[in-house]
Amino acid sequence: MNLSESVGEIKGIGPKTQKILEKAGIRTVRDFFYNLPRDYENFRAPRSIGEMRPGRVLIKGRISRLTTRHAKSRNLSITEGVVKDNTGMVHVVWFNQTYRERQLLPHREYYFNGVYELKNGRYQLTAPDVTLTTDIDVSSGIMPIYASHGKLKTASFKRFIKDSRDKFAEIPDLIPMVKPKTRSEALFKVHFPNTMNDTIVGRNYLAYEELFELVLAAKLNKNKNSALKSIKIAFDVEKIRDFVGKLPFALTNAQRVAAWEIFQDMEKEHPMNRLLQGDVGSGKTMVAAMAAYEAIVAGFQVAILAPTTILANQHYDSLSKLLTPFGVNVALLTGDSAGKAELRKDIKNGKIDLVIGTHAILTDSTEFKNLALAIIDEQHRFGVQQRQKLIEKSPDGFSPHLLSMTATPIPRSLQLTVFGDLDVSILNELPKGRQPIETHIMPEIETREKLYPKIRETIKNGQQVYWICKSIEDGTLSCDDFGSENFWNSEKITKGETTSVKYRTEKLRRVMPELTIEYLHGKMKPEEKDDIMERFARGEIQILVSTTVVEVGVDVPNSTLMVIENAESYGLAQLHQLRGRVGRGSVKSYCFLLTAGDMKPSERLREVESSTDGFHLAEVDLKLRGPGEIYGSLQHGALDLRFASVSDTKLVRRVQDDVEKFLQTEPNLDEYEELRSGIQKYQQLTRLN
Ligand code: ADP
Ligand code: MG
Repeated sequence: MNLSESVGEIKGIGPKTQKILEKAGIRTVRDFFYNLPRDYENFRAPRSIGEMRPGRVLIKGRISRLTTRHAKSRNLSITEGVVKDNTGMVHVVWFNQTYRERQLLPHREYYFNGVYELKNGRYQLTAPDVTLTTDIDVSSGIMPIYASHGKLKTASFKRFIKDSRDKFAEIPDLIPMVKPKTRSEALFKVHFPNTMNDTIVGRNYLAYEELFELVLAAKLNKNKNSALKSIKIAFDVEKIRDFVGKLPFALTNAQRVAAWEIFQDMEKEHPMNRLLQGDVGSGKTMVAAMAAYEAIVAGFQVAILAPTTILANQHYDSLSKLLTPFGVNVALLTGDSAGKAELRKDIKNGKIDLVIGTHAILTDSTEFKNLALAIIDEQHRFGVQQRQKLIEKSPDGFSPHLLSMTATPIPRSLQLTVFGDLDVSILNELPKGRQPIETHIMPEIETREKLYPKIRETIKNGQQVYWICKSIEDGTLSCDDFGSENFWNSEKITKGETTSVKYRTEKLRRVMPELTIEYLHGKMKPEEKDDIMERFARGEIQILVSTTVVEVGVDVPNSTLMVIENAESYGLAQLHQLRGRVGRGSVKSYCFLLTAGDMKPSERLREVESSTDGFHLAEVDLKLRGPGEIYGSLQHGALDLRFASVSDTKLVRRVQDDVEKFLQTEPNLDEYEELRSGIQKYQQLTRLN
């Protein structure tokens, strides 16, 4: 059996079905067998309706009185009916599943599996899955439930799999590190389990396989990197000692270690590929400055790439201050830099030592004389192609050393897998004299009594405030009701919907008309954004209402209070990043996490309140939400592991050993076509150069 063939090659799947399957993302034979049940139902023990308790239940009965109505305001169709068995009856409700009316026949008996709950004053069974009783294999009683995609319904996919039962034995092995046939047996167990344990055994193997591909991809990338040549940069003790000695502060120990690791890397003939991780404010820029200086005194050029113009400007300001006194020529190259042509000439002829900029650096018209080191700030914001572009800017045959910096903490488990090709330096220590940020969770309804006085006090002391909102605009709640008695209890807020920057700005202006309050969001024109940000940095704006665009790197040490609305809707690592915008000076800073209405804060949110350790928060986040949520969207969306958990360190270790062994015998993967194509998406993901 060839798994890469079209799904249409499976016996019994005609052109029409093939189309439906393809629409659901099932294109190849492999996709077909790997479309696993999203859940299982144990049909041995349905409850009788008379003895149901609230919670998830499975019942068996017949349906009647099916009708659908449309709730226009919410763009929702509601299909309702009544299910009866010989002990009682219960209302059932589905949302946006109008097909239920056609699907369910009153004379037939079905299993219904859904949530039995009290809603709007009556008990109902909400959104149950439905299975014909005659579809259940009584011998096992454990029924797979497949996700339905568009026209592909749970039951029909189940039928296709059943019809292919004999084909499982022909599924070829993927890797030689396990017993032959392990794979086909695992897949069979997952689709046709006899016990729930079968499903676990099957999935454990699939998790292994998935991690194997991920780790292999990273390892191959690493090998590829060490096959590249780079410019060797000798460590100049005197120059660096002089530079460090003239800093207005002492380096933290972590900064010293990181710089040392970087100097050692740059002395090698293969390009450095290092990730410098450090909490916001840990002083990554200083480490970058040392690395840049080292390369420049050796006679080479350095580029620093920032994800936004604001950030590039800021780096330019602080790095020129640091490096110009040492004879370094620093230039800023962003989309709106004046005199770009002239600047590019000077970059090409080597007059400029250090170029700081945005994507403008990557365009073909920017040529370097001898680029030896590229530093990428907030590395997850740059894609693979952009990194590739940087390599092309180095002298022929050489790749630049690459230093990526990020404040998004990457837990150890991810370092070993997804980022397994990177060497990592960590700044786990804040510069002396910083006070930890004090974080409080506060129900939104308390802001009027508690938060506003605190904000007024902060601003009276000459400090500034960030107020973070989830969205840019909304049209539903007008500000006119502000001040009315029931404003805070208005539906929008108690329902926990998000508020927008525009709305919040307007409202704060009404509460504190004496202040300058402006908003900032990602859809504004770059000039507008820069203008607002610069005015905020100069202290002309007291409250900046913003979306998460301020998350990345911006430094306004005078801001000491941050409010994050709809705090529940962010990841922990992101909340931590956001709050790092304050607490950058010596004054004590505060972060208020607002929960909608009077919602009780979750355990998850409590973690942010009690911990200032970004790595700890990232680990918690990773466990709760998985890597795809946290890093996937930031990277290229490919990091949605289906079976494995990268937190499973035991398995990760085993896989690493196996990958090592595998590569010793099969360095080129010549006979492993499926594996090669499988790791491609991960290679894209984990490759930094
Ligand atoms: P990061 O990029 O890691 O968020 P920065 O490099 O922007 O942090 O540093 C934050 C602030 O701390 C800057 O104002 C910087 O000058 C200062 N700083 C950096 N290193 C030290 C140090 N060792 N001691 C005191 N202040 C430092
Ligand atoms: Mg920074």
